[in-house]
Amino acid sequence: MDKKKLIEQIDIERLYQHILNIEGVRHPIDNPDLLDAVADYLIYEFEEYGLKVNEHIFELDGFDQKFRNIEGLIDKGSDKELLVTAHYDTVSVSPGANDNGSGIAGMLEIARVLAKADIDTNVRFIGFTLEESHPQQDKKIRELMEESGLVDDELRFSTYHSIKHLEILDVLREEYLVQGKTVKESWQLAIGNIAEQLTEKEKQYIDSLQKLYENVTRTNWVGGSICIGSSKWLEKNKHNKQKILGVFNLEEIGYSSEKKYSQQYPAGIDPERYPSYKVDIENRVGNFVGIFADKYSKSIAQAFCEQCKIKDIDLPFHSLEVPLNYEEISQQIIDLLRSDHSSFWKEQVPAISITDTFEFRYPYYHTSADISDYLDFEFMTKIVKATLATVISLA
Ligand SMILES: [Zn+2]
Repeated sequence: MDKKKLIEQIDIERLYQHILNIEGVRHPIDNPDLLDAVADYLIYEFEEYGLKVNEHIFELDGFDQKFRNIEGLIDKGSDKELLVTAHYDTVSVSPGANDNGSGIAGMLEIARVLAKADIDTNVRFIGFTLEESHPQQDKKIRELMEESGLVDDELRFSTYHSIKHLEILDVLREEYLVQGKTVKESWQLAIGNIAEQLTEKEKQYIDSLQKLYENVTRTNWVGGSICIGSSKWLEKNKHNKQKILGVFNLEEIGYSSEKKYSQQYPAGIDPERYPSYKVDIENRVGNFVGIFADKYSKSIAQAFCEQCKIKDIDLPFHSLEVPLNYEEISQQIIDLLRSDHSSFWKEQVPAISITDTFEFRYPYYHTSADISDYLDFEFMTKIVKATLATVISLA
C-alpha cells in the first residue's frame, strides 16, 4: 500500500465543508437539536464511506433525550484495533468550529481515505458526545443561578460586581488547583480570598456552587464533570480494552500562529524537557501540533512524531510525553487530562491527544468567536495527514 498516495487524498476542501456543516452550538441543554443532528451527520458520513456503524446510546436522569457516541468501524476481521476519536459537543455559547469541529472533520476525512486502503488491523472511529461538561451539573448550575436572584431572565448576571467576582473566583480556584491543592481546598481558599468583597446573595450562590462540586476530586473529575461520553463508552467496552493498540484523539487541531509569545504551556510542564521538531520554544511561537501522552502512550506518540517529519508532511511538533500514569498526572499536571484521551489513560490504554493546545494558544477558546474564519486549514490538513500516516504505519 502506498502511504504517500493515501495521504495525498486528504482533501482540505472536505475539511472546510465538514466544519461549515456542523458549526453551531451543540449543547445538550442549549441546542440539543444540533447535537443530535451532528450525531446523524456522523452516521450518514460513515455509511457513505462503507463503514459499519454502531450507536452507543446512554441516558441520564432528568433528561428525556438519549445521548449517543457514534462509531464507524473499518472491519478487517482482526482481533486488534486502532481508534481515531473526537468529541462533537460544544460548551453552551460556542459554535465550536475549532472545539471540536476541526477534530470531527479530521476524523471523518481519515475514515473516508482509510476505508479504501489495504490494511490488516481494524480501525474504529468514534464521535464522542458530552466531552465538555456534565448535563446534570449544567442543569443544576442554571437552577442555582435562578434561585440566587443574581441573574435576569436570560441568566445574565444583573450586576458587573457579580460577574467580576465570579471571574476572580474562577481564576483563583484554577491557580490553587494547578498548585496541587485538592478541588475542595481550591474552592475554600479561593472563597476565603474574596469573601469580604462579596454580597450576601453572592456568598450564598457560591456556597451552593461549592456544594454541587463537593464530591468532585482531581481524579474523578474525568468521568464526573468532563469526558462523560468517553467514560460511558469505556464502562461498556472495558472488557475489550486489551485489543486496543492505540487511540488517536483529535482535540482542536485548527489554530496556529507564527507570532512570538503566542504559545503558553500548562503549569507543571517544562517545555525544554520534551521532544520537539522545528519549534521555537524560546520565543513561544505557537505553530506546532501538540501531543499529550502518558507513560503507557510513549510509543504511539513517537510513531506520530516520526510521521510529522516525513517530507510530504513536515509538521512542527512538541510531544509532551510525561513519564507518569493517570493518577500521578491528575495530581501534578491536571491540564493534560482535558480531553477524551484521559478516559483511556484511566484504563492504561495507550492514547494520545493531538491538539493545537486550546487556550494555551487559541484566543477564542470556549467563546462565541470560535468560528471557522479564524482557523488555519493548511495547518489542520497537515495534522490530519500525520494522523492518517501514523494509523497506516501501525495498521
Ligand atoms: Zn474540546
